[in-house]
Amino acid sequence: MNQFEFPHTIPNWIDGCESGSSASETFAKFSPVTGKEICRVARSRTADVGRAVRSAANAFSIWSAQTPVARGDVLMAIARTMRCRQERLAAVVAAETGMSFKAAAAETAGAIALGEFMAGEGRRLYGRTTTSAVPNKWAMTVREPLGVAGLIIAANTPIANVAWKVFPALVCGNTTVLKAAEDTPATAWFFGQLAHEAGLPPGVLNIVQGLGEEAGAPLVTDPRVAVVSFTGSTAVGREIARVAGSRLARCSLELGGKNPLVVCDDADLEIAAQWAVLSAFSNAGQRCAAGSRVIVFDSIYEAFRDLLVARTRRLTVGPGDEHDFGPVINAQQLEAMLTALERARTAGAVIRTGGFRLDDSAHAGGFYLAPTWVENAAPDAEISTTEIFGPVACLYRVNDFAEALELANRSPYGLTACIHTRSIHRAIEFTRRVQAGAAVVNAGTYGSEPHMPFGGVKQSGNGTREPGTEALDVYSNLKNIIMAFDPNLT
Ligand code: NAD
Repeated sequence: MNQFEFPHTIPNWIDGCESGSSASETFAKFSPVTGKEICRVARSRTADVGRAVRSAANAFSIWSAQTPVARGDVLMAIARTMRCRQERLAAVVAAETGMSFKAAAAETAGAIALGEFMAGEGRRLYGRTTTSAVPNKWAMTVREPLGVAGLIIAANTPIANVAWKVFPALVCGNTTVLKAAEDTPATAWFFGQLAHEAGLPPGVLNIVQGLGEEAGAPLVTDPRVAVVSFTGSTAVGREIARVAGSRLARCSLELGGKNPLVVCDDADLEIAAQWAVLSAFSNAGQRCAAGSRVIVFDSIYEAFRDLLVARTRRLTVGPGDEHDFGPVINAQQLEAMLTALERARTAGAVIRTGGFRLDDSAHAGGFYLAPTWVENAAPDAEISTTEIFGPVACLYRVNDFAEALELANRSPYGLTACIHTRSIHRAIEFTRRVQAGAAVVNAGTYGSEPHMPFGGVKQSGNGTREPGTEALDVYSNLKNIIMAFDPNLT
Protein backbone atom coordinates (compact mmCIF):
# COMPACT_ATOMS: atom_id res chain seq x y z
CA MET A 1 0.00 0.00 0.00
CA ASN A 2 1.72 3.18 -1.01
CA GLN A 3 -1.16 5.54 -1.67
CA PHE A 4 -2.22 8.11 0.87
CA GLU A 5 -5.46 10.10 0.81
CA PHE A 6 -4.79 13.55 2.21
CA PRO A 7 -7.44 15.15 4.39
CA HIS A 8 -8.82 18.38 2.90
CA THR A 9 -6.94 20.47 5.49
CA ILE A 10 -4.06 19.34 7.70
CA PRO A 11 -4.78 20.59 11.22
CA ASN A 12 -2.72 21.39 14.31
CA TRP A 13 -2.60 19.14 17.35
CA ILE A 14 -3.19 21.23 20.48
CA ASP A 15 -3.95 19.74 23.89
CA GLY A 16 -4.61 16.33 22.38
CA CYS A 17 -7.14 17.63 19.82
CA GLU A 18 -6.98 18.47 16.15
CA SER A 19 -7.74 22.10 15.45
CA GLY A 20 -7.55 24.60 12.63
CA SER A 21 -5.90 27.99 12.94
CA SER A 22 -7.91 30.41 15.06
CA ALA A 23 -8.39 32.70 12.07
CA SER A 24 -9.43 29.69 9.92
CA GLU A 25 -6.66 30.54 7.45
CA THR A 26 -4.97 27.89 5.31
CA PHE A 27 -2.20 27.64 2.73
CA ALA A 28 -1.69 25.22 -0.16
CA LYS A 29 0.55 22.16 -0.16
CA PHE A 30 1.65 21.04 -3.65
CA SER A 31 2.75 17.60 -4.77
CA PRO A 32 6.42 17.67 -5.80
CA VAL A 33 5.58 14.90 -8.29
CA THR A 34 2.75 16.61 -10.18
CA GLY A 35 3.00 20.25 -9.09
CA LYS A 36 -0.70 20.13 -8.23
CA GLU A 37 -2.27 21.17 -4.92
CA ILE A 38 -2.85 18.09 -2.78
CA CYS A 39 -4.28 19.64 0.38
CA ARG A 40 -4.62 22.78 2.44
CA VAL A 41 -2.72 23.33 5.69
CA ALA A 42 -3.72 25.24 8.83
CA ARG A 43 -1.97 28.63 8.68
CA SER A 44 -1.21 29.18 12.36
CA ARG A 45 -0.04 32.44 13.82
CA THR A 46 0.99 33.85 17.19
CA ALA A 47 -2.38 33.14 18.86
CA ASP A 48 -2.27 29.46 17.86
CA VAL A 49 1.34 29.09 18.94
CA GLY A 50 0.38 30.71 22.25
CA ARG A 51 -2.39 28.13 22.76
CA ALA A 52 0.01 25.30 21.98
CA VAL A 53 2.63 26.64 24.41
CA ARG A 54 -0.02 27.06 27.12
CA SER A 55 -1.15 23.48 26.60
CA ALA A 56 2.47 22.24 26.86
CA ALA A 57 3.12 24.37 29.95
CA ASN A 58 -0.02 22.97 31.64
CA ALA A 59 0.98 19.37 30.85
CA PHE A 60 4.51 19.82 32.18
CA SER A 61 3.91 19.15 35.86
CA ILE A 62 2.26 15.76 35.24
CA TRP A 63 4.61 14.57 32.47
CA SER A 64 7.80 15.65 34.25
CA ALA A 65 6.63 13.97 37.48
CA GLN A 66 6.45 10.57 35.77
CA THR A 67 9.57 8.49 36.22
CA PRO A 68 11.93 8.47 33.24
CA VAL A 69 11.23 4.73 32.97
CA ALA A 70 7.49 5.37 32.65
CA ARG A 71 8.16 8.04 30.04
CA GLY A 72 10.40 5.62 28.17
CA ASP A 73 7.56 3.09 28.20
CA VAL A 74 5.28 5.62 26.51
CA LEU A 75 7.99 6.28 23.91
CA MET A 76 8.26 2.55 23.29
CA ALA A 77 4.47 2.39 22.82
CA ILE A 78 4.73 5.19 20.23
CA ALA A 79 7.57 3.37 18.42
CA ARG A 80 5.48 0.17 18.40
CA THR A 81 2.48 2.02 17.02
CA MET A 82 4.69 3.48 14.31
CA ARG A 83 5.90 -0.01 13.49
CA CYS A 84 2.33 -1.34 13.25
CA ARG A 85 1.44 1.54 10.92
CA GLN A 86 4.82 1.69 9.19
CA GLU A 87 3.46 1.27 5.66
CA ARG A 88 0.95 4.03 6.07
CA LEU A 89 3.49 6.34 7.71
CA ALA A 90 5.92 5.73 4.85
CA ALA A 91 3.10 6.37 2.38
CA VAL A 92 2.49 9.80 3.95
CA VAL A 93 6.21 10.64 3.75
CA ALA A 94 6.39 9.51 0.12
CA ALA A 95 3.22 11.32 -0.91
CA GLU A 96 4.25 14.71 0.41
CA THR A 97 7.98 14.62 -0.44
CA GLY A 98 7.84 12.75 -3.75
CA MET A 99 10.55 10.34 -2.59
CA SER A 100 9.96 6.69 -3.46
CA PHE A 101 8.00 4.46 -1.10
CA LYS A 102 11.17 2.38 -0.63
CA ALA A 103 13.18 5.43 0.48
CA ALA A 104 10.33 6.61 2.72
CA ALA A 105 10.09 3.16 4.32
CA ALA A 106 13.82 3.20 5.08
CA GLU A 107 13.56 6.66 6.63
CA THR A 108 10.56 5.53 8.68
CA ALA A 109 12.49 2.50 9.94
CA GLY A 110 15.26 4.84 11.11
CA ALA A 111 12.75 7.04 12.94
CA ILE A 112 11.29 4.00 14.71
CA ALA A 113 14.79 2.83 15.70
CA LEU A 114 15.39 6.27 17.16
CA GLY A 115 12.19 6.00 19.20
CA GLU A 116 13.29 2.60 20.52
CA PHE A 117 16.75 3.90 21.38
CA MET A 118 15.40 6.94 23.25
CA ALA A 119 12.80 4.79 25.02
CA GLY A 120 15.71 2.80 26.47
CA GLU A 121 17.29 6.04 27.71
CA GLY A 122 14.41 6.17 30.21
CA ARG A 123 16.27 3.41 32.06
CA ARG A 124 19.66 5.05 31.61
CA LEU A 125 19.14 8.70 32.45
CA TYR A 126 22.41 8.57 34.28
CA GLY A 127 24.10 11.23 36.36
CA ARG A 128 27.57 11.05 37.92
CA THR A 129 28.84 10.80 41.43
CA THR A 130 31.94 12.75 42.23
CA THR A 131 34.48 13.23 44.97
CA SER A 132 34.74 16.15 47.33
CA ALA A 133 37.72 17.94 48.87
CA VAL A 134 35.75 18.19 52.07
CA PRO A 135 35.50 15.14 54.35
CA ASN A 136 32.03 13.66 54.83
CA LYS A 137 30.53 15.22 51.77
CA TRP A 138 29.00 13.58 48.72
CA ALA A 139 28.07 15.01 45.36
CA MET A 140 26.08 13.66 42.45
CA THR A 141 24.43 15.01 39.32
CA VAL A 142 20.89 14.30 38.20
CA ARG A 143 19.16 15.28 34.98
CA GLU A 144 16.09 17.50 35.15
CA PRO A 145 13.77 18.54 32.33
CA LEU A 146 13.84 22.15 31.19
CA GLY A 147 10.12 22.79 30.65
CA VAL A 148 8.52 23.47 27.28
CA ALA A 149 10.71 22.57 24.29
CA GLY A 150 10.07 24.43 21.01
CA LEU A 151 11.05 22.21 18.09
CA ILE A 152 11.37 23.63 14.56
CA ILE A 153 12.23 21.33 11.67
CA ALA A 154 13.04 21.20 7.96
CA ALA A 155 11.16 19.15 5.36
CA ASN A 156 13.92 17.09 3.76
CA THR A 157 13.54 13.84 5.76
CA PRO A 158 10.31 14.61 7.56
CA ILE A 159 9.73 11.65 9.86
CA ALA A 160 13.42 11.42 10.82
CA ASN A 161 13.42 15.13 11.62
CA VAL A 162 10.34 14.74 13.86
CA ALA A 163 11.81 11.71 15.66
CA TRP A 164 15.26 13.30 16.21
CA LYS A 165 13.72 16.07 18.26
CA VAL A 166 10.49 14.78 19.81
CA PHE A 167 11.79 11.52 21.34
CA PRO A 168 14.80 12.92 23.25
CA ALA A 169 12.82 15.98 24.37
CA LEU A 170 10.06 13.76 25.78
CA VAL A 171 12.21 11.16 27.50
CA CYS A 172 13.95 13.95 29.41
CA GLY A 173 10.54 15.03 30.78
CA ASN A 174 9.90 18.14 28.70
CA THR A 175 6.61 18.88 27.04
CA THR A 176 6.80 20.00 23.45
CA VAL A 177 5.52 22.25 20.71
CA LEU A 178 6.65 21.06 17.30
CA LYS A 179 6.50 23.54 14.40
CA ALA A 180 6.12 21.28 11.36
CA ALA A 181 7.90 22.16 8.11
CA GLU A 182 5.42 23.85 5.77
CA ASP A 183 6.33 21.47 2.94
CA THR A 184 5.73 18.31 5.00
CA PRO A 185 2.73 19.03 7.21
CA ALA A 186 1.07 15.62 6.90
CA THR A 187 3.96 13.57 8.33
CA ALA A 188 4.01 15.64 11.52
CA TRP A 189 0.21 15.55 11.77
CA PHE A 190 0.09 11.76 11.29
CA PHE A 191 2.89 11.28 13.84
CA GLY A 192 0.75 13.28 16.30
CA GLN A 193 -2.14 10.92 15.64
CA LEU A 194 0.02 7.84 16.27
CA ALA A 195 1.54 9.32 19.44
CA HIS A 196 -1.88 10.04 20.92
CA GLU A 197 -3.18 6.60 19.88
CA ALA A 198 -0.19 5.11 21.70
CA GLY A 199 -1.20 6.84 24.94
CA LEU A 200 0.81 10.07 25.02
CA PRO A 201 -1.17 12.35 27.36
CA PRO A 202 -2.82 15.47 25.86
CA GLY A 203 -0.61 18.56 25.81
CA VAL A 204 2.69 16.68 26.00
CA LEU A 205 3.17 16.94 22.22
CA ASN A 206 1.53 19.85 20.43
CA ILE A 207 2.03 20.27 16.70
CA VAL A 208 1.65 23.62 15.00
CA GLN A 209 1.38 23.95 11.24
CA GLY A 210 2.33 27.13 9.46
CA LEU A 211 4.96 29.31 7.86
CA GLY A 212 8.30 30.16 9.42
CA GLU A 213 7.81 33.84 10.16
CA GLU A 214 4.23 33.34 11.33
CA ALA A 215 4.33 30.09 13.32
CA GLY A 216 8.04 29.47 13.95
CA ALA A 217 9.15 32.92 15.08
CA PRO A 218 6.48 33.23 17.86
CA LEU A 219 7.73 29.96 19.34
CA VAL A 220 11.23 31.40 19.59
CA THR A 221 10.11 34.61 21.29
CA ASP A 222 7.68 33.00 23.75
CA PRO A 223 9.17 33.35 27.25
CA ARG A 224 7.52 30.08 28.36
CA VAL A 225 9.66 28.10 25.88
CA ALA A 226 12.79 27.03 27.74
CA VAL A 227 14.70 25.44 24.87
CA VAL A 228 14.49 25.96 21.12
CA SER A 229 15.83 23.16 18.97
CA PHE A 230 16.07 24.03 15.29
CA THR A 231 16.98 22.09 12.15
CA GLY A 232 17.17 24.20 9.03
CA SER A 233 19.20 26.76 7.14
CA THR A 234 22.09 28.69 8.60
CA ALA A 235 20.43 32.05 7.84
CA VAL A 236 17.31 31.21 9.85
CA GLY A 237 19.38 29.50 12.56
CA ARG A 238 21.41 32.65 13.06
CA GLU A 239 18.23 34.70 13.57
CA ILE A 240 16.81 32.09 15.97
CA ALA A 241 20.05 32.14 17.98
CA ARG A 242 19.87 35.93 18.20
CA VAL A 243 16.27 36.00 19.43
CA ALA A 244 16.60 33.03 21.79
CA GLY A 245 19.91 34.41 23.06
CA SER A 246 18.38 37.78 23.90
CA ARG A 247 16.12 36.06 26.44
CA LEU A 248 18.83 33.53 27.44
CA ALA A 249 16.82 30.52 26.26
CA ARG A 250 18.83 27.41 25.44
CA CYS A 251 19.20 26.86 21.72
CA SER A 252 20.34 23.88 19.65
CA LEU A 253 21.07 24.52 15.98
CA GLU A 254 21.49 21.82 13.32
CA LEU A 255 22.22 23.79 10.16
CA GLY A 256 23.50 23.50 6.63
CA GLY A 257 26.52 21.86 5.04
CA LYS A 258 28.72 21.98 1.95
CA ASN A 259 30.37 18.68 2.60
CA PRO A 260 33.62 17.56 0.93
CA LEU A 261 34.31 14.06 -0.37
CA VAL A 262 38.01 13.59 -1.19
CA VAL A 263 39.12 10.96 -3.72
CA CYS A 264 42.83 10.14 -3.41
CA ASP A 265 45.00 8.57 -6.13
CA ASP A 266 45.06 5.27 -4.19
CA ALA A 267 41.28 5.00 -3.81
CA ASP A 268 39.14 2.23 -5.24
CA LEU A 269 37.66 4.43 -7.94
CA GLU A 270 34.54 2.33 -8.52
CA ILE A 271 33.62 2.41 -4.84
CA ALA A 272 34.49 6.09 -4.57
CA ALA A 273 32.32 6.90 -7.60
CA GLN A 274 29.43 4.89 -6.20
CA TRP A 275 29.60 6.81 -2.88
CA ALA A 276 30.15 10.17 -4.56
CA VAL A 277 26.98 9.69 -6.61
CA LEU A 278 24.96 8.55 -3.59
CA SER A 279 26.29 11.40 -1.44
CA ALA A 280 25.50 13.98 -4.09
CA PHE A 281 22.12 12.75 -5.32
CA SER A 282 20.33 10.46 -2.86
CA ASN A 283 17.14 12.13 -1.64
CA ALA A 284 17.66 14.54 -4.58
CA GLY A 285 20.60 16.06 -2.72
CA GLN A 286 18.26 17.34 -0.01
CA ARG A 287 20.45 16.31 2.87
CA CYS A 288 22.39 18.55 5.20
CA ALA A 289 25.06 15.85 4.90
CA ALA A 290 25.01 15.71 1.07
CA GLY A 291 28.43 15.46 -0.56
CA SER A 292 28.37 18.57 -2.71
CA ARG A 293 32.12 19.18 -3.13
CA VAL A 294 34.05 16.27 -4.63
CA ILE A 295 37.80 16.88 -4.45
CA VAL A 296 39.88 14.66 -6.71
CA PHE A 297 43.65 14.11 -7.07
CA ASP A 298 44.98 15.43 -10.38
CA SER A 299 46.52 12.13 -11.53
CA ILE A 300 43.13 10.34 -11.53
CA TYR A 301 40.89 13.32 -12.17
CA GLU A 302 39.84 12.52 -15.74
CA ALA A 303 39.41 8.79 -15.10
CA PHE A 304 37.33 9.43 -11.99
CA ARG A 305 35.23 12.16 -13.59
CA ASP A 306 34.40 9.93 -16.54
CA LEU A 307 33.33 7.13 -14.19
CA LEU A 308 31.20 9.57 -12.24
CA VAL A 309 29.54 11.04 -15.29
CA ALA A 310 28.83 7.60 -16.75
CA ARG A 311 27.22 6.49 -13.49
CA THR A 312 25.25 9.71 -13.22
CA ARG A 313 23.87 9.37 -16.76
CA ARG A 314 22.53 5.93 -15.81
CA LEU A 315 20.52 7.36 -12.89
CA THR A 316 16.78 7.47 -13.33
CA VAL A 317 14.74 10.23 -11.75
CA GLY A 318 11.13 9.82 -10.66
CA PRO A 319 8.85 8.92 -7.76
CA GLY A 320 8.91 5.11 -8.09
CA ASP A 321 10.88 2.44 -6.23
CA GLU A 322 12.70 1.76 -9.50
CA HIS A 323 14.07 5.33 -9.58
CA ASP A 324 17.28 6.57 -7.99
CA PHE A 325 15.81 9.79 -6.63
CA GLY A 326 12.76 11.99 -6.89
CA PRO A 327 11.81 15.64 -7.17
CA VAL A 328 12.93 18.52 -4.97
CA ILE A 329 10.45 19.73 -2.41
CA ASN A 330 8.91 22.81 -4.03
CA ALA A 331 8.88 25.03 -7.11
CA GLN A 332 10.74 27.92 -5.40
CA GLN A 333 13.65 25.66 -4.41
CA LEU A 334 13.86 24.31 -7.96
CA GLU A 335 13.87 27.84 -9.37
CA ALA A 336 16.62 28.87 -6.89
CA MET A 337 18.76 25.91 -8.02
CA LEU A 338 18.40 26.79 -11.70
CA THR A 339 19.29 30.41 -10.93
CA ALA A 340 22.37 29.34 -8.93
CA LEU A 341 23.50 27.18 -11.87
CA GLU A 342 23.02 30.05 -14.30
CA ARG A 343 25.11 32.34 -12.08
CA ALA A 344 27.81 29.68 -11.81
CA ARG A 345 27.92 29.39 -15.63
CA THR A 346 28.24 33.14 -15.94
CA ALA A 347 31.11 33.07 -13.44
CA GLY A 348 32.99 30.55 -15.60
CA ALA A 349 31.92 27.14 -14.31
CA VAL A 350 31.14 24.31 -16.74
CA ILE A 351 28.10 22.06 -16.35
CA ARG A 352 29.53 18.63 -17.19
CA THR A 353 26.18 16.84 -17.04
CA GLY A 354 22.62 17.81 -16.04
CA GLY A 355 21.88 21.40 -15.13
CA PHE A 356 18.30 21.50 -16.42
CA ARG A 357 14.75 20.88 -15.28
CA LEU A 358 13.29 17.53 -16.35
CA ASP A 359 9.97 18.41 -17.95
CA ASP A 360 9.33 15.64 -20.47
CA SER A 361 6.03 13.77 -20.28
CA ALA A 362 7.29 11.42 -17.54
CA HIS A 363 8.14 14.41 -15.32
CA ALA A 364 5.51 16.92 -16.43
CA GLY A 365 4.56 19.40 -13.71
CA GLY A 366 6.95 17.86 -11.16
CA PHE A 367 9.84 19.66 -9.47
CA TYR A 368 12.59 17.57 -11.09
CA LEU A 369 16.19 18.61 -11.66
CA ALA A 370 18.57 16.39 -13.64
CA PRO A 371 21.55 15.18 -11.58
CA THR A 372 24.22 17.81 -12.13
CA TRP A 373 28.03 17.89 -11.98
CA VAL A 374 29.74 21.25 -12.15
CA GLU A 375 33.42 21.64 -13.07
CA ASN A 376 35.87 24.54 -13.12
CA ALA A 377 34.13 26.47 -10.35
CA ALA A 378 36.58 28.53 -8.30
CA PRO A 379 36.81 27.29 -4.70
CA ASP A 380 35.59 30.66 -3.48
CA ALA A 381 32.82 31.04 -6.07
CA GLU A 382 29.23 31.27 -4.90
CA ILE A 383 28.40 27.74 -6.12
CA SER A 384 31.36 26.37 -4.10
CA THR A 385 30.48 28.07 -0.85
CA THR A 386 26.67 28.20 -0.82
CA GLU A 387 24.43 25.25 -0.03
CA ILE A 388 22.20 24.34 -2.99
CA PHE A 389 20.18 21.58 -1.24
CA GLY A 390 19.42 19.80 -4.49
CA PRO A 391 21.01 17.27 -6.90
CA VAL A 392 23.95 19.53 -7.76
CA ALA A 393 27.61 18.92 -6.88
CA CYS A 394 30.96 20.38 -7.90
CA LEU A 395 34.22 18.68 -8.87
CA TYR A 396 37.62 20.13 -7.92
CA ARG A 397 41.14 19.12 -8.94
CA VAL A 398 44.00 19.08 -6.41
CA ASN A 399 47.65 18.02 -6.56
CA ASP A 400 47.99 16.09 -3.33
CA PHE A 401 46.70 15.28 0.13
CA ALA A 402 47.72 18.62 1.65
CA GLU A 403 45.85 20.57 -1.04
CA ALA A 404 42.82 18.30 -0.68
CA LEU A 405 42.67 18.87 3.07
CA GLU A 406 43.12 22.61 2.64
CA LEU A 407 40.26 22.76 0.11
CA ALA A 408 38.03 20.50 2.23
CA ASN A 409 38.44 22.96 5.10
CA ARG A 410 38.03 26.06 2.93
CA SER A 411 34.30 26.36 3.61
CA PRO A 412 32.07 28.36 5.91
CA TYR A 413 30.43 25.05 6.85
CA GLY A 414 31.75 22.06 8.77
CA LEU A 415 29.09 19.36 9.01
CA THR A 416 30.43 16.12 7.50
CA ALA A 417 33.44 15.09 5.39
CA CYS A 418 34.65 11.93 3.71
CA ILE A 419 37.87 10.56 2.22
CA HIS A 420 38.42 7.62 -0.13
CA THR A 421 41.88 6.11 0.22
CA ARG A 422 43.62 2.81 0.89
CA SER A 423 46.20 4.55 3.08
CA ILE A 424 45.71 4.29 6.84
CA HIS A 425 47.96 7.32 7.19
CA ARG A 426 45.86 9.50 4.94
CA ALA A 427 42.66 8.22 6.55
CA ILE A 428 43.74 8.99 10.09
CA GLU A 429 45.32 12.33 9.25
CA PHE A 430 42.16 13.38 7.39
CA THR A 431 39.79 12.41 10.21
CA ARG A 432 42.11 14.23 12.65
CA ARG A 433 42.42 17.49 10.72
CA VAL A 434 39.23 17.93 8.76
CA GLN A 435 36.93 20.57 10.25
CA ALA A 436 33.65 18.69 10.54
CA GLY A 437 31.29 17.14 13.06
CA ALA A 438 31.56 13.77 11.31
CA ALA A 439 34.50 12.36 9.32
CA VAL A 440 34.02 9.23 7.21
CA VAL A 441 36.52 6.90 5.54
CA ASN A 442 35.62 5.00 2.36
CA ALA A 443 31.86 5.53 2.44
CA GLY A 444 29.49 8.51 1.97
CA THR A 445 29.20 11.93 3.57
CA TYR A 446 25.88 10.90 5.13
CA GLY A 447 24.69 7.91 7.14
CA SER A 448 24.47 8.83 10.82
CA GLU A 449 22.49 6.45 13.06
CA PRO A 450 20.14 6.97 16.02
CA HIS A 451 22.79 6.28 18.68
CA MET A 452 25.44 8.52 17.07
CA PRO A 453 25.89 12.19 17.90
CA PHE A 454 25.34 14.40 14.86
CA GLY A 455 26.07 18.08 14.38
CA GLY A 456 28.58 20.46 12.90
CA VAL A 457 31.28 23.00 13.49
CA LYS A 458 31.64 26.51 12.01
CA GLN A 459 28.36 27.64 10.39
CA SER A 460 26.81 24.17 10.48
CA GLY A 461 25.62 24.50 14.05
CA ASN A 462 26.29 25.88 17.49
CA GLY A 463 28.10 22.89 18.92
CA THR A 464 25.20 20.77 20.17
CA ARG A 465 24.81 17.15 19.07
CA GLU A 466 21.53 15.34 18.37
CA PRO A 467 20.55 12.53 18.66
CA GLY A 468 22.65 9.89 20.45
CA THR A 469 22.84 10.14 24.23
CA GLU A 470 24.37 13.59 23.60
CA ALA A 471 20.85 14.84 22.73
CA LEU A 472 20.00 14.43 26.42
CA ASP A 473 22.35 17.37 27.11
CA VAL A 474 20.20 19.57 24.87
CA TYR A 475 16.96 18.68 26.63
CA SER A 476 17.96 18.48 30.30
CA ASN A 477 19.64 20.48 33.02
CA LEU A 478 22.25 18.93 35.24
CA LYS A 479 21.65 19.54 38.91
CA ASN A 480 24.56 18.92 41.26
CA ILE A 481 23.28 17.55 44.57
CA ILE A 482 25.67 17.89 47.49
CA MET A 483 25.11 16.06 50.77
CA ALA A 484 27.05 16.55 53.95
CA PHE A 485 26.83 14.02 56.75
CA ASP A 486 28.33 13.56 60.21
CA PRO A 487 29.46 10.05 61.18
CA ASN A 488 29.25 11.10 64.86
CA LEU A 489 25.50 11.45 64.53
CA THR A 490 24.84 7.90 63.44
P1 NAD B 1 14.61 26.84 6.55
O1 NAD B 1 15.61 27.37 7.50
O2 NAD B 1 14.06 27.75 5.52
O3 NAD B 1 13.32 26.30 7.37
C1 NAD B 1 13.42 25.35 8.38
C2 NAD B 1 12.26 25.52 9.35
O4 NAD B 1 12.36 26.80 9.97
C3 NAD B 1 10.88 25.48 8.70
O5 NAD B 1 9.98 24.81 9.55
C4 NAD B 1 10.51 26.94 8.59
O6 NAD B 1 9.13 27.17 8.57
C5 NAD B 1 11.13 27.49 9.86
N1 NAD B 1 11.43 28.93 9.82
C6 NAD B 1 11.72 29.69 8.74
N2 NAD B 1 11.91 30.98 9.13
C7 NAD B 1 11.76 31.02 10.47
C8 NAD B 1 11.85 32.04 11.45
N3 NAD B 1 12.14 33.31 11.12
N4 NAD B 1 11.67 31.72 12.74
C9 NAD B 1 11.40 30.46 13.10
N5 NAD B 1 11.27 29.45 12.22
C10 NAD B 1 11.46 29.71 10.92
O7 NAD B 1 15.27 25.54 5.94
P2 NAD B 1 14.75 24.62 4.74
O8 NAD B 1 15.14 25.23 3.46
O9 NAD B 1 13.33 24.26 4.97
O10 NAD B 1 15.64 23.32 5.03
C11 NAD B 1 16.86 23.10 4.46
C12 NAD B 1 17.99 23.45 5.41
O11 NAD B 1 17.96 22.61 6.56
C13 NAD B 1 19.34 23.19 4.76
O12 NAD B 1 20.19 24.26 5.08
C14 NAD B 1 19.81 21.91 5.41
O13 NAD B 1 21.20 21.71 5.40
C15 NAD B 1 19.26 22.08 6.80
N6 NAD B 1 19.22 20.80 7.51
C16 NAD B 1 20.12 20.56 8.50
C17 NAD B 1 20.14 19.33 9.17
C18 NAD B 1 21.15 19.04 10.25
O14 NAD B 1 20.93 18.12 11.03
N7 NAD B 1 22.23 19.79 10.33
C19 NAD B 1 19.21 18.34 8.82
C20 NAD B 1 18.29 18.63 7.80
C21 NAD B 1 18.29 19.86 7.16
